[in-house]
Amino acid sequence: MLRTRGTACWIALALASLAPVAAIAQAHHHRHGIATLELTAGGTDLTLRLVAPLESLVGFEHAPRTRAQEAAIARMRETFERPEHLFHTDPAARCRPTRRNLQSPVLPGTPSADSARRDRGAESHGDLEASYVLECARPDALRSLDAGPLFAAFPRLRRIDAQLVTPNVQAQRKLERTRARLAW
Ligand SMILES: [Zn+2]
Repeated sequence: MLRTRGTACWIALALASLAPVAAIAQAHHHRHGIATLELTAGGTDLTLRLVAPLESLVGFEHAPRTRAQEAAIARMRETFERPEHLFHTDPAARCRPTRRNLQSPVLPGTPSADSARRDRGAESHGDLEASYVLECARPDALRSLDAGPLFAAFPRLRRIDAQLVTPNVQAQRKLERTRARLAW
């Protein structure tokens, strides 16, 4: 009996220690000041996935402890709820957001918030992951994405490492405050 329980325990421990490793392998490189963006354009859809360290968005990476920190999280959520607060697309393409998904340990009710709660004691680093699908009425007119509003909203963010996949272009680009436009 004891041995069985011991084995089960060992397996549980092994699984628990594997879980964070798997999560890190899928995640972007967590570096303060740097976000990653995956942009995929195909058909009428423009898909964006942005991952940014919480440090670069709100200045801390733990559950809010003060009123000011709660307010910072609420402001961040409000900004990220509408991709037009972060990016400008070519007006002629007439892109409208159709889907949105936010995940972060500091946003209650999101999947990564739940896993963070299970992962007690792991108070180290945290990200916000935001995914959007925009539908464009004139996708042929979609030739660029300007991340200027994102840099303007979050002064601690220095760089976005972007990966671009369109029918004609596959490229990696680095966006900065003064060069925030991704063109293809
Ligand atoms: Zn961090």
